[in-house]
Amino acid sequence: MACFKSTYADELVATAAAMSVPGKGVLAADESTGTIGKRFDGIGVENVEENRRAYRELLFTTDGFEKYCSGVIMFEETLFQSCKDGTAFVDLLKSKGIIPGIKVDKGVVPLPGNTRGETTTSGLDGLGERCAKYYAQGARFAKWRAVLTIGDTLPSPQCLDDNARCLARYAAICQQNGLVPIVEPEILTDGAHGIDKCAEVTERVLSCVFAHLAQHGVMLEGMILKPNMVTPGAQSNAGASRAEVAAATVTALRRTCPAAVPGVLFLSGGQSEEDATAHLDLMNKASSEARKNPWTLSFSYGRALQTSCLKAWLGNESNVAAAQAALLRVSEANSKASLGQC
Ligand code: 13P
Repeated sequence: MACFKSTYADELVATAAAMSVPGKGVLAADESTGTIGKRFDGIGVENVEENRRAYRELLFTTDGFEKYCSGVIMFEETLFQSCKDGTAFVDLLKSKGIIPGIKVDKGVVPLPGNTRGETTTSGLDGLGERCAKYYAQGARFAKWRAVLTIGDTLPSPQCLDDNARCLARYAAICQQNGLVPIVEPEILTDGAHGIDKCAEVTERVLSCVFAHLAQHGVMLEGMILKPNMVTPGAQSNAGASRAEVAAATVTALRRTCPAAVPGVLFLSGGQSEEDATAHLDLMNKASSEARKNPWTLSFSYGRALQTSCLKAWLGNESNVAAAQAALLRVSEANSKASLGQC
């Protein structure tokens, strides 16, 4: 299936390549107002616009962060906010060589007709107009998160097909409007399944997603894949070593993710900062000259980049330097992990 030719084709390829440069990753700072509220609850900070703005200013003004960070995903509110001194966040990020990105989905909703509690992601209506507005504001990539759950009979064919189709339509709309789509089919860790089941479902999901991307003519060179790692379920007793997680994840990707995709930037999905870094490091250490991965394997973490930073900040202005130091420390570790050099 041939790709459609976006007028932005060359720019999309350049942006996706810059996002995938080895040694850097993407910061997912695109928590919706509800989700950042949960993070703020954990540190006793009130979820009001000024606190959200101040926290994102803390993240984006971290000195040296640009050495480890190729892009930042923002929530719509943040894309239009500024630093206290009036500098627009978008301009600040661009001045550091960090590419601004935007979460464009509108969250999960129950899948109509589905009796198993599965979801689809909303936000396709009017997406083209919104993408054009975000591009004009300086965004150069977007993110859409689909959510799938593992169960005895889950994900159902309906859920799988619908979420893959929505991801593909979103990706095509983004490319028509100059935004590199981050395609994120997140398989939740909820469940007592073992790592083999997660591997099987991950392969099934990614195969289905890439089939729909092909059907929609999405240019693979101008997109980023943001998958889960292959792990046992959060309630599983079986466990798996870090080496097993790394090996199973790379195997699933090799079987399903075309070599034309420049970057695979993982979500952290509730893993600890240490596990997320170690898994990434082991995956990259295993990529040898003889068996080199065709894509960059790096990070697009939310929680696994921000947990220590939030704990150090506690909403207190006098803790900003310590919080920024925490962000820098974790980012540097993941930068090294993306090179297999931890
Ligand atoms: P986590 O790394 O916390 O899973 O968040 C990444 C993300 O962007 C989820 O959509």
